[in-house]
Amino acid sequence: MTLIDKAFVTNCIFADNGNMNNEFKQLSGREFPRFSGIKTFFRLPIAQIQEKFDVALFGIPYDGGVSYRPGARFAPANVRDYSSLGRGFNMARGGVSIFDKLKIADIGDCSTVPIDQAQTYEKIEKFVTEVVSSDKRFVSIGGDHSTTLPVLRALRKKYNQPLNFIHFDAHLDTYPAAWGCEYHHGAFARHSVDEGLVNPKQMMQIGIRGPLASGDDLDFVKKNNIHVVTVDDIREGSLAEVIKKFPVFKGPTYISFDIDCLDPAYAPGTGTPVPGGLTTYETQRILRGLKIENLVGADIVEVCPPYDPSGITAMAAVDTMFELLCLMGENK
Ligand code: MN
Ligand code: MN
Repeated sequence: MTLIDKAFVTNCIFADNGNMNNEFKQLSGREFPRFSGIKTFFRLPIAQIQEKFDVALFGIPYDGGVSYRPGARFAPANVRDYSSLGRGFNMARGGVSIFDKLKIADIGDCSTVPIDQAQTYEKIEKFVTEVVSSDKRFVSIGGDHSTTLPVLRALRKKYNQPLNFIHFDAHLDTYPAAWGCEYHHGAFARHSVDEGLVNPKQMMQIGIRGPLASGDDLDFVKKNNIHVVTVDDIREGSLAEVIKKFPVFKGPTYISFDIDCLDPAYAPGTGTPVPGGLTTYETQRILRGLKIENLVGADIVEVCPPYDPSGITAMAAVDTMFELLCLMGENK
């Protein structure tokens, strides 16, 4: 039995409620109230990876790579819950109905080992390899940001070239080892470049701000000529001008969205919050303005439900997931 089969079996126990379907449509909020039913992402059906559909949604519930507040392991369940409010029609994109345009399903969670990062990395890489081997694109919910590294390792193998990489974050995540450990959530971007998983010339970091430990923290992005878009860059002029200057990303492209790119006023539920961030509206505008020819995968990480009592962070994650799916809809 494959890892994904196992995830399917686990979910099937709960899926047989008569409301699920295999047409990849959302359970209607007008027939079944949004607070009812078994929770899947966007009230979409659960599917096996071998079935015929376009985009897989899944969780990666692991937060063993955090350096400060843990809790992101609870994000997949929490975001599924809040995604009951998610609807499919985007009037800001000229009226795309994303769940009609793409067949999208929840494939469950990648299995993890909460006390062993090496084993967890192996499981994530294997899981994502299965997803992309069946020619699916995907959006995942982490997990802390250390989980993105094994995802990119799987994609690098699948596409046989370094990926274009758009990275939303308050932090550069190119920082050195901490406590003698290389693979923490603030180092994944450095490893992704050093391992040749992403192309630093086709890489853009958006939302960067805040104090660094020292000026040396900027050495890596300078050395690799990485395109960094700070909050100051976004706020000093007009957002429309900033968006106009975005390059066109050709070839396989991945987006990693660390929820802490948002200001803590919009996303308090995160492990390492940094004041002075983007608004949810600004990230919506930026996501709608990206020019990507082939978005092969995306993740949303660092959602930390224990610090999100109002659910505002989970709602921002749901909204971001929707915009990412709409971006994928433009591929076709
Ligand atoms: Mn990060
Ligand atoms: Mn961050």
